[in-house]
Amino acid sequence: MCNLDSILPLVRKPGRYINNEIGCRGKQPFASTDTSVVIAFPDVYEIGMSSLGVRILYHLFHKEGIRVERVFSPWVDMEEKLRSNKIPLFSLESRTSLKDFDLLAFSLQYELNYTNVLCILDLAGIPLRSQERKENDPIVVAGGTCVFNPLPVFPFFDALLIGEGEVLVPEIMPVIKDKSLTRDEKLTEMGKLPGVLSTRNIKNIEFPIKKVFTNTLSSDAIPDPPIVPFIDIIHNRLVVEIARGCTRGCRFCQAGIIYRPYRERDNKTVVEVAQQGLLKTGYDDLTLLSLSVLDHSEIEDIIRNLRGKNISPSLPSLRGDALNDEVATLVGGGSVTLAPEAGTERLRRIINKDIDEDEMIASTRRFRSFGFTHAKLYFMIGLPQETDEDIRGIVKLVDTIKRNTPVKVSISPFVPRPHTPFQWERQNNIGELSEKISFLKNSTKRVKTTYRDPKGCLLEGVFARGDEKLSNVIERAYRLGARFDEWSELFHFDRWVEAFNKEGIDPNKYLKERDVEKRLPWEIVDTGVQREWLLEERELARKSEIRRDCRITGCSGCGICNGNIIPIKDKKSTGKIQYGRGIKRTDTPPTKIRYRIMYSKTGNLRFIGHLDTTRALIKAFKRARLPIVYSQGYKPKPRIAFSPPLSLGFTSKVEYIDVILKRPVPDIRIRLKRTLPDGLTINSAEIVPLKVKSLSSSFLHQRLFVKYDSSKVDEFMKKENMEIDGINVRPAVLEIKKRTDGAEILMKFGKIKPLQLFQVLFSITEEEAKLLKVERIGWE
Ligand code: SF4
Repeated sequence: MCNLDSILPLVRKPGRYINNEIGCRGKQPFASTDTSVVIAFPDVYEIGMSSLGVRILYHLFHKEGIRVERVFSPWVDMEEKLRSNKIPLFSLESRTSLKDFDLLAFSLQYELNYTNVLCILDLAGIPLRSQERKENDPIVVAGGTCVFNPLPVFPFFDALLIGEGEVLVPEIMPVIKDKSLTRDEKLTEMGKLPGVLSTRNIKNIEFPIKKVFTNTLSSDAIPDPPIVPFIDIIHNRLVVEIARGCTRGCRFCQAGIIYRPYRERDNKTVVEVAQQGLLKTGYDDLTLLSLSVLDHSEIEDIIRNLRGKNISPSLPSLRGDALNDEVATLVGGGSVTLAPEAGTERLRRIINKDIDEDEMIASTRRFRSFGFTHAKLYFMIGLPQETDEDIRGIVKLVDTIKRNTPVKVSISPFVPRPHTPFQWERQNNIGELSEKISFLKNSTKRVKTTYRDPKGCLLEGVFARGDEKLSNVIERAYRLGARFDEWSELFHFDRWVEAFNKEGIDPNKYLKERDVEKRLPWEIVDTGVQREWLLEERELARKSEIRRDCRITGCSGCGICNGNIIPIKDKKSTGKIQYGRGIKRTDTPPTKIRYRIMYSKTGNLRFIGHLDTTRALIKAFKRARLPIVYSQGYKPKPRIAFSPPLSLGFTSKVEYIDVILKRPVPDIRIRLKRTLPDGLTINSAEIVPLKVKSLSSSFLHQRLFVKYDSSKVDEFMKKENMEIDGINVRPAVLEIKKRTDGAEILMKFGKIKPLQLFQVLFSITEEEAKLLKVERIGWE
């Protein structure tokens, strides 16, 4: 296990690299005899841990009885530190070098992450290309949506896994576990399994490789217990997958094809999983997840049952026209997402976005009465057969809706994706997209609108419909420094232009319309949806004809499930549900008791910031089932307050929490001990008067112990003015006690940060100040 004490204080968001979150497994280094897997997500922790796919895989590997750990892309500052300190990239849980695992399994969700894959391999000391790897290197595989077009990235992996983890994990693990096989033999054996494309037997493979999938969404595959990150992540809440697949048939949508057939979890399972998940994690928020959540055949029952248990779910991906009054009553509050995608009825028919515009506009008039604050509108530009009229249509539709409700608009260029009815269409080039964006910017000045960068979309389109020639471009761009290409602050298009030029490849060639008579590079993969059906859809698009959802009108023969599908039920509701402001509290007001709890923060948790620490504590309180009092109002909040923030990187013996409970809890310390993560320890818990002075006004000064040579302290205290960056830090210091091993400093809270003070006090650099061992030891 490597020691990162001299690195973590110097990097942005060090909490990305520490382990021991609630629900994670495998904290100790493993024995050489254990079979081990590390799941790699080629983006930062906050994005990777928001992926339900990663969580499901983690759970599935664990169920196979093997050691499973995670790794995420280190941010560029961490990459630099790892390289300069010659530390090979390691796993999150046990900080074991990735090279020491049996299997390195990438989750590939997005083409603009490809250079990050190479960075992870490179930092781990694993050769970038499969053909260069040796017997002792881990087997490197990838799964996820990107492997549905394998060729651009195939040389970087030993095998690609095409389909769903529920089938693939139990299938490949016996081969990985078999210690009698050599690396090559394992890859050959894997290549014989359904859904696996192995580099070792690609020449003998019968193409196409069929996607594998599970027929039912088993409860066994639900991540349990769910991992609760310490730091804030993109989707920081409990997520319960209620259905997989979508049969609405939007012709640009790849997920709608590759996740077919449609499968559901029943009402009872969803409610149980949600209830248990909230108890185990301490989350307040729950998202019910599927590609088109309102199409679940029991969605209203699910929401009604959850609300009966005081759980208010949020639903992503609401369809504009599906938002009738009843649904709005069930889910009202916050923002509502509408995705008309195109500005005119004509173009919406072409893309098969079966939305009634009048109904959608009418529904937006009532948003405020349901508690919605604003609408988020999603549009695409550059769609097949798009005209200027369609672009003007976006402006017109936004103008109409914004008269009814505040709006935020998101504009994304269309990227033709493999395996969709639009896979043969041409993609707009950078110039065309920029012109359309510029028109929209001028026409929607008063509306908050975000645009995706056409340059990033060009790359996405090239790799989405690319071929085997592109692996050289990816490697060259990586060597030229391309990383985190979907992060605007790190995206350098010029590096990609240079990479294409040096490889003699014109990226614009990949944007062209494809010949329907020719085999497409990604047709070595079979999603189960037939080519003929996709072509039929393309023809319907050309005639501006809608094909309705097969769950409503019956099977149209796409080929995936032969018509064995769960129909959409008539959703006329029988019950009336109160929501949000409408709910009246009928229970008698509880007795209130204030506990003041003192705790320590030690070890790696010093790399978790103040807000993330407060969130971790609140969740621990909920897991301990403490009877917390909540505020009144639309979004009730737990009545918990914290002592002033502790600087990132400091430990503390004396942090405080005030919490209001409904009744005394004599075993409060024992309960919290069970639910707190390592590094947070309760020192005392006392009942104090309800009207006691608040923590923030009680503590005006903090006492810090700094381990450092204290010989310069006397000189500092004699001065009246000691400046850094034009700020006098001296008045912030009330007292300094010299100790043999350092100094105890009593300083005011305020503008002066402790790190600024240390730089002046000890005459050291900012970096040296960050590396000091500092502990908060008291308050005044
Ligand atoms: S096979 Fe028929 S019922 Fe099944 S998803 Fe395709 S179109 Fe729908």
